[in-house]
Amino acid sequence: MKQGAQISEGKAKILYETEDKSLILQYFKDDATAFDGKKKGSIKDKGILNNSISSLIFQLLEKEGIKTHFVEKVSDREMLIKRVDIIPIEVVVRNITAGSLAKRMGVEEGRVMTETIIELYYKDDALGDPMINDYHVRAFGLGTQKEIDICREKALKVNKIMTALFDDVGLTLVDYKLEFGRIGSEIILADEISPDNCRLWDKVSGEKMDKDRFRRGLGNIEEAYQEVLKRLSEKGIK
Ligand code: UDP
Repeated sequence: MKQGAQISEGKAKILYETEDKSLILQYFKDDATAFDGKKKGSIKDKGILNNSISSLIFQLLEKEGIKTHFVEKVSDREMLIKRVDIIPIEVVVRNITAGSLAKRMGVEEGRVMTETIIELYYKDDALGDPMINDYHVRAFGLGTQKEIDICREKALKVNKIMTALFDDVGLTLVDYKLEFGRIGSEIILADEISPDNCRLWDKVSGEKMDKDRFRRGLGNIEEAYQEVLKRLSEKGIK
């Protein structure tokens, strides 16, 4: 699939047109940002690792009946995806307290909650992705109640599959962010699923195997991402 004109460049990825109007080439960069872009850096080979990790997870989700924008991994850093109209909402799924939730609720990180929490954030970097609820989504025309309900339902299904997947490779899936897009009247999973937008803790050592290593300056970031890919690959997940 030939790379056409650039559509947009985000913090971690660039999107390009292809000859087929319904397909887009998603290019994974090594750039890393945190704290609403205030911390900037680069993680060697992150784009290659995230493309591989995302591809494996999307394929597994597809096998389990979750529709995603994934078409195929076409090179080290490129993934062919379906063109969707992205819903400007970040759907955050939380199984264990960490990050902004731990701060907001005044609890320690690592508390297993009695229920999975789903939060919605308005996808707007300039505003720092503020947390919103169903009222904001409807009142500002970001989506309909039906769409919110579908996103939540899909997020819970994804959570079941991903929690089991990571548990199987010795990782605790703490929390993560999902994005959904529309194709006609259908809503499908989009963006990427990688250690950039998931918190993954080693089940034995408790070590952080995700972007918190960058956010918190813990070092060995590339090694952690590599280990996540190695474990998923060894399980024969493809
Ligand atoms: N997350 C993300 N993009 C964002 C905000 C959050 O991918 O813009 C992910 C983050 O990696 C974590 C989860 O969503 O796995 C919850 O993040 P949190 O609200 O704790 O925010 P953060 O710690 O990133 O400030």
